[in-house]
Order: sequence, then C-alpha cells, then structure tokens
Amino acid sequence: MKSSLPTALRLCAAAAALTCAVGAQAQTFPASGKTITLIVPFAAGGPTDKVARDLAEALRKPLNGATILVDNAAGAGSTIGTAKAFRAAPDGYTLLVAHVGLATTATLYRNPGFKYDEFEYLGLVNEVPMVVVSKPSMPANTWAELNTWIGQNKGKVNLGNAGLGSASHLCGLMLQNQLKTEMTTVPYKGTAPAMTDLMGGQIDIMCDQTTNTTGQVEGKKIKAFAVSTAKRISVPAVYKDLPTLNEAGLKGFDVSIWHGLYAPKGTPPAVLKTLNDALKVALKDPDFIKKEEGLGAVVVTDGRMNPEEHKKFVASEVAKWGAVIKAAGQYAD
Ligand code: ASP
Repeated sequence: MKSSLPTALRLCAAAAALTCAVGAQAQTFPASGKTITLIVPFAAGGPTDKVARDLAEALRKPLNGATILVDNAAGAGSTIGTAKAFRAAPDGYTLLVAHVGLATTATLYRNPGFKYDEFEYLGLVNEVPMVVVSKPSMPANTWAELNTWIGQNKGKVNLGNAGLGSASHLCGLMLQNQLKTEMTTVPYKGTAPAMTDLMGGQIDIMCDQTTNTTGQVEGKKIKAFAVSTAKRISVPAVYKDLPTLNEAGLKGFDVSIWHGLYAPKGTPPAVLKTLNDALKVALKDPDFIKKEEGLGAVVVTDGRMNPEEHKKFVASEVAKWGAVIKAAGQYAD
C-alpha cells in the first residue's frame, strides 16, 4: 500500500500530461506553419478539383489562415486518390474531397483500396447537376437530334468519362442503358482531360458536371443537349432552355452529383470538430456560395453538413447506385 501510492500518483500525473498534450494539440490545430493537403482523386482543372480549390480558399480563414494545398492523386475512377487518403496519417493534415464515386466504387470494385464507411465524415459540401455535351462539330443541335444521331451511329459513338465509378461514368451507363445502345467508353483521369479531347473532337459525347461545362458551353466550344437532374437548370442562364433527360423520354433519369469532405479514420475528435466547424463557416462564405452558384452548383445548407447525417446520406447513395449499376448489367463498364 505504502509503496503503491507513489506509483498511482505517477500514473495520474502521466495521464494528466497526456490529456494536456491532446488538449494542447487540438487547441493549436492547425499548428502554425503546418500545411493541410486536400486530396482530389481526379485531374487538375476538372469539376472536383474546382470545388476543392474554392473550398480550400473558404476554409483558410476559419482555420487561422492555414496554407491549404490540393494534391491531384488521379486515376482509376477516383480509387487511387481515395485509397491514398484512406492510408494517410490521421492527424487532420491530410483530407479528402470526394464525390459520388465514394458510393459507386463500393459496387464496382472488388477491392478499391478503402472502405467508404471507414473514413471520418466531415460533411457534405454541394450538389451539382450534370449536362450531356458533345464535340463542337456534332451535327445535332437538340436532344432529339442527338438521340437520332446516336441511333444512326450505333457501335461508333465514343463516350468520354473519368473512369469506372466516376460521375460521368455513372451518367453514361444510365444513358446507354435507357437508350439500349452500347457506346465505346473512353476513360480519362478526370473530366478536365476528357473535356480537352471533347473540344478537339477526339471523343463525341460526355456527361459532366456544370462546374466543368459552363465556361465551354458559354464559349460555344462544346454543345449542350439535356440535363441529368429531375429539375431544369435556371442558373447559369445558358442551360435554361435545355430539357431534362426525364422530360426527353428517359423516364426516371435523375442524377445529381455531390461532394463531401473526409478525414482518415482515427483523426482525434477535437481535430474533427475544428474541421467540421470550419467547414460550416466555409459553406456560409458568400464568396464561396457565389462561385459555386455561378457554375450551377448548390452549396449544402441542410443537416448533411454534419458528420452523422452525411454518413447516413452516403450509405443511402451506396444502396441507390448499387441497384442502378447492377440493373445496368452489360453497360456497367
Ligand atoms: N467530373 C468527373 C466525374 O465524372 C470527375 C472530375 O474530373 O472531377 O466524376
């Protein structure tokens, strides 16, 4: 008894020091001079990259002016970058900006190198419609004409996408499934390089987020035909006359792409709280909202900006898209 007291005191002192150290680390996160990296699992200059760079800007102020860099770890339909973030040190300094691919890859890949439900979920960022676009030399000018052109060119249509599991892949497989037409899918590391080839006429058509298509449609460098969501797009105005695919006869077609922010599993709770608080400030930043709206994206204002609700939402997306992908059968890759 006599000799165990000092031991107990020593243990208490050690535990207190540990609590102190953890508390201090959380209080000083992000530590001055330390850089935060946002991993983007698609190519630079594309839609996910644009969202991540705008978000980095909006997160800087609530994170005490921290330097926030983007690392484009692109390839394999987002699985390379997502797996890199999954394996990163859980200290809050490496985060992932992912999109619907986090949910679709659960069905499409036997082993994508990560488990979608084993990240720390920080919150949802935005929702973005997609548009069916074509090379500028496409003879068609309306969805009906494009549909006819696709029918007349069976076996010859090249459809660009950002790899198996990407948003453009998902939209493309639904198009092929509903039109009952197999196209030659041309996978890229993101829709930025695919857009370059679409503008150059190396590929014929693509589905892509408005965050990537708006400038090119406004500049008449590509043509736009129909929107993927159940509702038409009123802003940006360049899309206001486009029908939805559902209206155009592809019944039930409704694809909206979301982006979210994630940390590796095991990131300390206090650091996660700091990051989620910063995310909520960023999502209310008028400059960020304006930039996103200008590109057709809607910044999240509902409960999905919180980890728990966001996680439930992604689980529902895994179930929803898993069923669609399985039903698409032969068109799924
Ligand atoms: N828009 C791409 C996709 O189809 C991804 C990207 O390049 O950001 O998923």
